[in-house]
Amino acid sequence: MQAHNLGFPRIGAQRELKFALEAYWRGEIDRGQLEDQGRALRAANWKRQQQAGLDLVPVGDFSFYDHVLDHSAMFGVVPERFGWSGGEVDLDLYFHMARGRAPSGEPAAACEMTKWFDTNYHYLVPEVSKGQVFRLSSQKFFDEVREARALDIPFKPVLIGPLTWLWLAKVKGESFDRLELLDDLLAVYAEVLEELGALGAEWVQIDEPILVLDLPTAWKQAFEKAYNRLQAAPVKLLLTTYFGALDDNLGLAASLPTAGLHVDLARAPEQLDAVLDRLPAYKILSLGLIDGRNIWRADLDALLTTLDRTVERIGSERVWIGPSCSLLHVPVDLESETELDGELKSWLAFATQKLDEIGVLRRALTDGRAAVAEALDAARRAGKTRRQSPRTRRPEVRARLEQIDGSLLERNRPYPERRPLQRARLDLPSLFPTTTIGSFPQTAEIRGVRRAWREGNLDEHGYVARMHEEIAHVVRKQEEYGLDMLVHGEPERNDMVEYFGELLDGFAFTRFGWVQSYGSRCVKPPIIYGDVQRPAPMTVDWIRYAQSLTERPMKGMLTGPVTILNWSFVRDDQPRAETCAQIALALRDEVLDLEAAGIRAIQIDEAALREGLPLRRSQWQEYLDWAVRAFRLTASGVRDETQIHTHMCYSEFNDIIESIAEMDADVITIETSRSQMELLDAFVNFEYPNEIGPGVYDIHSPNIPTVEEIVALMRLAAERIPPERLWVNPDCGLKTRSWEEVDPALHNMVEAARRLREEFAARASA
Ligand code: GLN
Ligand code: ZN
Repeated sequence: MQAHNLGFPRIGAQRELKFALEAYWRGEIDRGQLEDQGRALRAANWKRQQQAGLDLVPVGDFSFYDHVLDHSAMFGVVPERFGWSGGEVDLDLYFHMARGRAPSGEPAAACEMTKWFDTNYHYLVPEVSKGQVFRLSSQKFFDEVREARALDIPFKPVLIGPLTWLWLAKVKGESFDRLELLDDLLAVYAEVLEELGALGAEWVQIDEPILVLDLPTAWKQAFEKAYNRLQAAPVKLLLTTYFGALDDNLGLAASLPTAGLHVDLARAPEQLDAVLDRLPAYKILSLGLIDGRNIWRADLDALLTTLDRTVERIGSERVWIGPSCSLLHVPVDLESETELDGELKSWLAFATQKLDEIGVLRRALTDGRAAVAEALDAARRAGKTRRQSPRTRRPEVRARLEQIDGSLLERNRPYPERRPLQRARLDLPSLFPTTTIGSFPQTAEIRGVRRAWREGNLDEHGYVARMHEEIAHVVRKQEEYGLDMLVHGEPERNDMVEYFGELLDGFAFTRFGWVQSYGSRCVKPPIIYGDVQRPAPMTVDWIRYAQSLTERPMKGMLTGPVTILNWSFVRDDQPRAETCAQIALALRDEVLDLEAAGIRAIQIDEAALREGLPLRRSQWQEYLDWAVRAFRLTASGVRDETQIHTHMCYSEFNDIIESIAEMDADVITIETSRSQMELLDAFVNFEYPNEIGPGVYDIHSPNIPTVEEIVALMRLAAERIPPERLWVNPDCGLKTRSWEEVDPALHNMVEAARRLREEFAARASA
């Protein structure tokens, strides 16, 4: 039996790597110093894992930016615009690919970034073109193996498998089937494995998480071809799958000629029996028992039962113990959390604690349970207090949840009947009303005020006064631009989820619970540990104040239940849908309080609704059903004349448009400007019935849109959607922009709307 790990967070318990990277990019430290920091982190992480009692420690999981980009660099896959002419892909070229800029100093678009499966980690998309050449072009991976060897770490190199890497790659230029590249790519993999063998690696972990996706037949066949070829390598391969069940790919995964198979039993515990049935006798089975995607302490007794059952079936020599996936997706060390209360802390396990859990399971099997009685007992006690604590189960919340019925999920009248009531009350122009998505520039000054208040250097009174000043400024600005529906600007919010989490019961916040999002960027997701309840209104005072400053309608601004859920660590002792409904009920109260305070329009942001889609298509509908239900539960209590907006930072709605329509928001604002409104086609084909604000300019770019550009985009939109149902607004919130950019952009946007109204009114009368 072996205990191992699949990957460890590289950012450092105090985000050491982040600070070193940023210092290097600012030119404050040199490359040698950055490399030293990397080496120190690797050594510390390896030691930590070895000390926890692991027999095999992953090597190659460290990255200065992103492990997918590391592989692209290793294969010499560098897009032409970076002006590379072969040789070693060095660290600076690597950073240019990640961050944009050609070595010549000319601007070059950074590689595209996108989410790694259903996590909040972003990888850099490999770009391949027809006739792509693959050549071993980086020694980083081998250097790290040598480093680990020199430190006497029992190492197990970790690679992304060829099919997963190729699946994640995007074709640039002339279109072709990227599977055509597989043979050439495999030649490089063969070389890499050869070298690893020469370096003394016995096992190599080869990650193929795409085996938990719905795969086209050609890709399944490619797996056979690829692994038949790699079979000749002088190392044993552990085919590693995670983030879900193998399902229809189980037969394939089990039969590929690799020495071992790793399966995710945290996400998909139910697959174990089928896996045991299909596993050939020559293979070892690595059980992904400890949840690598969440922060809860494991139920060790239950896991030992699973282990016993497995050992009985296939014998202990064939069983390995590990986490479900790399621990990259959880924070480093719970010990840093000195401010969490003891009870809550006893329920949690971060990466370091998860290593200990793996070590305990291993010892329980090899030395007997008595050898780890204390650890098992502690886990048992924590499980018990968590199950019984009044903080996790509030009878009032549960009773309310029981009482949800259809009437809470429906507006009184359908949209066509609500529309005239809302238009009359909101006093909007009959065509092309203008608005923004919520936030205005978050200047260093505003952040400073928030910090001073948090740290106790500014009292409540002073804080509110400063926020009011900022709100008044934002309102005045919007009136000057001539916007029709205003916002308060969100100066009091650090983050659209954290802000609400801090005001709701059932959420906890860590001090160092950072998880890498991309490159040097980290997020600190809230932890939803208990039943969610709203002790007091969260936004009403701010919005009421903002409304008092203007005659124009002020939009209430909330983050929706699905987004709050998807961007948090969620409790694992009840279905996600249930937790989501609890959040929805709390937000529903906020919506109704806003309405009672005289607010006539309320926006409920669902930025993360789409990214919450399950990896398997067959599970989409179930998710969409409860997600839409949660939104409706939040929104449907208002009177018909109150206008509900929602906002989503993307526009690929083709495959979920029916669910989007079922949310029944009166207005949806989305991102479309970069696609020249083409992405609106989803709404056209479906005949989306309500109002739409297709973003007219990309807020991620510092470019100022001209009046003409905006008019042209809206004309395209009006070819697709009846103009009386169109709004004019930016793509997303403006918090990352400066006032120097926002002033002219919004000025132009309002002017564009004015011209459009003239043009379309003339068309109507002609
Ligand atoms: N209301 C939020 C803002 O304007 C929305 C942010 C988002 O969609 N990501 O910042
Ligand atoms: Zn957005």
